[in-house]
Parts: sequence; structure tokens; C-alpha cells
Amino acid sequence: MRFFPVFLRVANARILVAGGGEAAVAKLRLLLKTEGRIEVYADEPDPLIREWAAEGRLSIVARPVDAKDLAGARLLYAANDEPVEDGRVATLARAAGVLFNIVDNLADSEFLTPALVDRDPLVVAIGTEGAAPVLARKVKAHLEEKLPAALGAVVRAGEAFRPAAEALPKGRARRSFWSAVFADAFVPGAAPGADMLDRLLAEHLGEAPKKGRVLFVGAGPGDPDDLTMRARRALDEADVVIHDRLVPGAILELARREAEIVEAGKTGFGESIPQDEINAMIVERASRGEVVVRLKSGDPGVFGRLDEEIDACEAAGIEWTIVPGLTSAAMAAARLGQSLTKRGRNSEVRFLTGQDVKGLADHDWAALARPGSVAAIYMGKRAARFIQGRLLMHGADPGTPVSVVENAGRPEERILATRLSVLEPTLSAAGVTGPAIIFLGLVPRGLAVADAPAEAVS
Ligand code: SAH
Repeated sequence: MRFFPVFLRVANARILVAGGGEAAVAKLRLLLKTEGRIEVYADEPDPLIREWAAEGRLSIVARPVDAKDLAGARLLYAANDEPVEDGRVATLARAAGVLFNIVDNLADSEFLTPALVDRDPLVVAIGTEGAAPVLARKVKAHLEEKLPAALGAVVRAGEAFRPAAEALPKGRARRSFWSAVFADAFVPGAAPGADMLDRLLAEHLGEAPKKGRVLFVGAGPGDPDDLTMRARRALDEADVVIHDRLVPGAILELARREAEIVEAGKTGFGESIPQDEINAMIVERASRGEVVVRLKSGDPGVFGRLDEEIDACEAAGIEWTIVPGLTSAAMAAARLGQSLTKRGRNSEVRFLTGQDVKGLADHDWAALARPGSVAAIYMGKRAARFIQGRLLMHGADPGTPVSVVENAGRPEERILATRLSVLEPTLSAAGVTGPAIIFLGLVPRGLAVADAPAEAVS
């Protein structure tokens, strides 16, 4: 953006127009819509300008602008249609620190006047930085057609009713009232009358306070494209989003603009906010009547401490729903080009965690060590050496393929293919720092198990 649109306060401010011809008249038509004090500097102003002056809508000064006129002015239009004189007044304006526009000379102007769709106090300003004025006019025509003439009156009616609407509790209740008031704003017709506003307010005041609820939502492995539609809708509805650290910003950006975003700070290895406090926060926000989206990476039901949070909701009598997400193991397998189960290879797949609340997690090592077994290990980086040792101890083939998918489904994704015997030190040597799934028993498609190298393949 080379020009930044703002709405400038001009009520009672001095707006100077240098020139009294056609260009000046065109700008004055717009400026007369404002509450600015308009001064036209022209020896021989157009008759129309004289008329406006006679009506008291502007004042005429029958000489060129000079330096002292500029003191305290807000804007200046150089509209003499004469480059030398326009250049002179522009220089004066620049020296006085007054914003100026030279009509039809964007390159030397400090601001431009947008095309306006005027439903005062609702004003739409359209600009193309001078690149396509005809297009700006088309956009204007389009909006003129779409926005009913009474829209300004609708806004005014709403404005007048704001103090009365304060009877509704701030937040959801008030938003839903205004949303009802403006429901038909785009339908041509009269502005909502006082009786209609009163009735709507009474209805909303009579409503039982909105019941808060909790949505346990899976955010998937990290790419917004891997969110389910249901997850997107939940984000759209949220009053507050309480998310784990693994959920990336690109997904949080999809939350409703007004939603409060709270990081619960949990990572794969321990947590910076104790689980009890997270539970309490969820319950507290829902008790206020808010829609709480508890956003977890992957699927909320996979190593997400979901049950503790559900228990807290149940204990407080709060309604909750689970919105499943794509678990990172599913994405990791897809990135390897492999299925999770395969006829003749494995008729079961295990999801394991390397860590549990007590530290390194114990598992049915004997079953995992069997040929053909497939397991997705979550939070396995620190536990890799322990897992490797336990499996070998229980008779696993040291050549068992192991694949590591770091940042599965994200732009920074990396895949390592190795074997159980060298899982460590391969993992440490590769410097895997992102979230990773360690797949026991799977190789990236196209790579023969025997060839699995102890190094990164992509
Ligand atoms: N509920 C999540 C798992 C949370 S536990 C899910 O269903 O995926 C956190 C672990 O998930 C991480 O330590 C890592 O093992 C795994 N993980 C999460 N996102 C990942 C990703 N994009 N790529 C690889 N592993 C991921």
C-alpha cells in the first residue's frame, strides 16, 4: 500500500481550495458533504461557487492563497488547473505541514481523494492509488447498487440505541442483539424503528443467559488445509481458543477475529501450565457462557490428556463435544507413502508415547519386537535410546526399519529412514528438533528395507 486509507477528522477544520473553476467545483461537491470550514481562493469563482457562498456553505477569498492562509489549515486542494500556480500553493502547503492534493496530479500529491459510497455515517472509500480510476468507479457503482439508501439511517438508529443496548451483558449477548438489529441491513427499506429496537431488546433480555460449552478440537498436524470443516466452524464460533504450543499461528489466525487466544503452553515434554490450571480455565470460561475451543494438535483423543479435561467439564456440568482431527501418525504414514495396516504385513498398528506422566513409558515390548509389527511413536525423541534398547532386549531384529517424520505435513517436513540398531545415534546426529513421529516397521515407499540408510532421505 503506497497510500494508507484513514478517516480524517474535518468537522470545524479549515479546508482550503485554491482555484474556482471546474476542477474546484468537482472537489467542492464532495467537500460540501463534510462539516469542514471550506475556503475557496479564487478571483473569479464559478457561479455555482458563488451560490454556495451565498447559502453560507463556504467562504470565498478573492485572491490567491498565500503562506499565512495555511496556518492551522487541515487540507489543501490545489485546483487551479494550472501547473505553475498549483505547484506554488503545494509548496506553501508543504512548508506549512498541511496535507495537500493537486487535482489530477497524483505523483506530486500527498493524499488522494477516494471514490466514495456515502451512506453517512457509513462511508466506503475506494482507491486504486491512481492505477485504475475506472475500475474504482465500477466498484463504486456495484456498491451503490448493493447498499440500500437507508443504510445510513440504520447506522444512526443503532447509534442512538447503544446506551439502551448496554442493558445486555457485554460480549455474546450484546453481539447477538446487534446482529439481529442489522440482520436486514442489506434489504432496501426503512431503518429499524424505535419500537422494533425495543422489541428486539426485550427479546434478548428475556433470553436465558447463553450456556457456555467446550469444543475439544483437533487441529491436525499443522497445515491449515488439514483442518476438518467442523474444526473450521468451531474456530469461527469461538469466544476463546485455548491451544497447545504445537498449534501453529496459521491455524490460530482462522479463529473468529474477536476470539481471545490463550496459549496453554503444553509441549510434548511436560508443560508450563499445570493440567489442573488448564482444566480450571476451560471450566471458568465456559461457566461465563462462552464458547471455548480447546484446540489440540493432531487428534484431541491421541495423547492429548483429553479425559482429564472432559472430567473437569462433567464435574462442572458443562456441555462438551469432541471434534476429531487428523492425528500426526496418519499424516506421517501418508508422507512415507505407506498405509498404516497392510494385508500380510501387519493387521494391527500401535500408537505409543515415548513419555508419560512418570517419565519414560513402558510398553508391551515383546509384542512390539515381533517381526512385522508397526508402531507410531509419539513424543519419542528423548525416549528413542530407551525404546531401542528395550526392543533389542526383547529380541527385535536389529535391521527392523524405522522411519522418522519430523514436522509431518508442514513446510519444514523432514523424513529420515534408518534401522532399529542405529536409531540412536542417527536421530541425535540429524538434530531433529521439531515434533516427530518415529515409525517402527515402516520405510518410505520405494526404499528397500535392506537399503535403509542411516541418514536423511529428504
Ligand atoms: N494429539 C496429537 C499428539 C499430541 S502429543 C496428535 O494426534 O497428533 C505431541 C506429539 O505429537 C509430538 O511429540 C509428536 O510426536 C507428535 N506430533 C504432533 N504434530 C506433529 C507433526 N506435525 N509431525 C510429526 N509429529 C507430530
